[in-house]
Amino acid sequence: MSDELTPTISVQEISIQELFSEISDVTVVYNNPPWEALSQILPTPTQSISAWNMDIEHLEEIASTTPATSTVVGVGGGTALDTAKFLAWKHGSTLIQVPTITSVDAGFTDAIGVRVNGNVQYVGKIMPKMVVLDIPLIRSAPKHLNRAGVGDVLSCHTGLFDWKLAIDAKQENRWNDNLYALGRSLLDELEAAIGDIGAVTEPGVRFVADAYRRIGAACAVAGHSRFEEGSEHFLVYALEHATGDHYVHGEVVAMGVTAMASVQGNDVERVRKIVSQSGVRANPLDIGISQQQFFETLKSVAEYTTREQLDYSIVNSHDITESEISAAWNTVTSLPRVNI
Ligand SMILES: [Zn+2]
Repeated sequence: MSDELTPTISVQEISIQELFSEISDVTVVYNNPPWEALSQILPTPTQSISAWNMDIEHLEEIASTTPATSTVVGVGGGTALDTAKFLAWKHGSTLIQVPTITSVDAGFTDAIGVRVNGNVQYVGKIMPKMVVLDIPLIRSAPKHLNRAGVGDVLSCHTGLFDWKLAIDAKQENRWNDNLYALGRSLLDELEAAIGDIGAVTEPGVRFVADAYRRIGAACAVAGHSRFEEGSEHFLVYALEHATGDHYVHGEVVAMGVTAMASVQGNDVERVRKIVSQSGVRANPLDIGISQQQFFETLKSVAEYTTREQLDYSIVNSHDITESEISAAWNTVTSLPRVNI
């Protein structure tokens, strides 16, 4: 069943050195670390661009001032992978992604996420020709950045709930049994692999990457990401918009899943167990989110999703009450503290 939904993304388990020995006329879009160290051992690319700012104006400027090359390679985390998507899309280049951490699924998805006036917007689509999975390189990163891989898989827990809720409320007509089953299966598999993910073992890294591959392919086929993106992501977008801060994606999403599972009344204990056993940093007191920010954002998240025309979710089904917000806060602050 999952195979029907995952026909398109080629993931190659090779080293970044092998990749670079096979390509030329390359723009590298990177995060540092790890680029400075990698550049010492790789052939010099045609050009290299530091990724740090996802504002659309900044990305347009890069695209208009940078000569096109036949290949764009993203090397790093979310900002590098999304900037590489944008540049390859604008220049009509072949896109190759080299995630060096597993904190976000952006390397495996086709939707190009940028910021417009501080809000996440998807401006276009491009499929990577290849995703390079250099497991030793990924495992050399700080562990918390790879444990964060839990977030973009665990988001199926609240995403599926919101999707079903929208269907039942007749606010949504995009339904697909296979996609729903894929989300359920990913959650079961995540639970089974949680020890490996927490320890950042080779099978743990491989599991997260393969889950991302299946999610990315399924979203590309379906043309939407309802099964893995719901109110937990919307809370994150609203928080980032309100505070102007950027968090490690998978960490703040893991917090968002825990908070919204509480509001949904949706098996919070399962989420708590997965978050706790993975060791992912998801307690807002570790992430740098205050009680006031949390309360204000949850109070205004429905307004935010309406304004940004985000999908229907639990936050639109009723006015979230003060006691629901308190319960959610108590739940997220009772997650294990993780000091890195
Ligand atoms: Zn995400």
